[in-house]
Amino acid sequence: MTENQESALEATKVALITGAARGIGLATAKKFLEEGWHVAMLDRERDLLTGAMEALGHRNAAMPVFADVSKPEDVSRAVAEVEAAFGRLDALVNNAGIANFKPVLETSFEEWSEIMATNLNGPFLCTNAAAPVMLKTGGGAVVNIASISGFRASTLRVAYGTSKAGVLHLTKQQAAELGNIGIRVNAVCPGPVDTAMAKKVHTPEIRADYHAAIPMNRYGLESELAEAIFFLCSDKASYINGQHLAVDGGFEATGIGLTTLRDDG
Ligand code: NAD
Repeated sequence: MTENQESALEATKVALITGAARGIGLATAKKFLEEGWHVAMLDRERDLLTGAMEALGHRNAAMPVFADVSKPEDVSRAVAEVEAAFGRLDALVNNAGIANFKPVLETSFEEWSEIMATNLNGPFLCTNAAAPVMLKTGGGAVVNIASISGFRASTLRVAYGTSKAGVLHLTKQQAAELGNIGIRVNAVCPGPVDTAMAKKVHTPEIRADYHAAIPMNRYGLESELAEAIFFLCSDKASYINGQHLAVDGGFEATGIGLTTLRDDG
């Protein structure tokens, strides 16, 4: 049998992507579908997800899952639905996230708690529910979507930035234990991407600040994030575990000096 015939006999791989109704999650779902995977697209916004799936048109390869990643009972049901529909799970992308930019002293406990529930509890709950299913077919890969706001502090992000810093350490904790049993866990840290979330929290001043701090002097594209996420879930990343990959045009690599460089140019 040729190598091609052998690979044709391999089971189709399955990914579960949270927050897949729009933005980075939707772009990632498209990438996995283009690569021939089956994709479970999870979101709590029913109409948005239904519309996105209709536009995609991959009727048998994609399934909708309506759930809130901050609710343990929703997450258990969601993973059971995916296993029942596709019979296996090879990749989990913990992408669902929310943002609320406010000064520290104006951030209420309710606002803080809401951000933590989705951004930090969500990846914990989803990974704990998904891992046992992955292990039934030998393991898999998890990618947690953190942020450059998890690397470096800034104004207005006390809840968001702290939740994403938590995701970065959660990734290492999960990588330590799950790597030992066949599940690689890594984080992708997007720089600014012009999604609905960014439109909500990025004022013109914040946009200008980002341009000033990013060597490539632009926002990222949803598709650029999807490529990195897919790579980390694929067998091409088979020895990468516990890493934080910034996809940010160089933001995390640099400090002062860019505006002077540009002014001099
Ligand atoms: P987005 O708001 O466009 O999309 C997020 C999706 O997640 C939405 O469809 C929303 O309905 C869903 N969602 C939110 N909370 C949920 C929950 N509790 N349960 C289920 N679904 C939920 O956001 P985006 O910009 O595509 O962001 C995706 C991820 O990337 C987030 O984790 C975000 O923090 C991260 N990120 C984004 C940027 C950026 O500039 N856009 C930068 C850094 C990190």
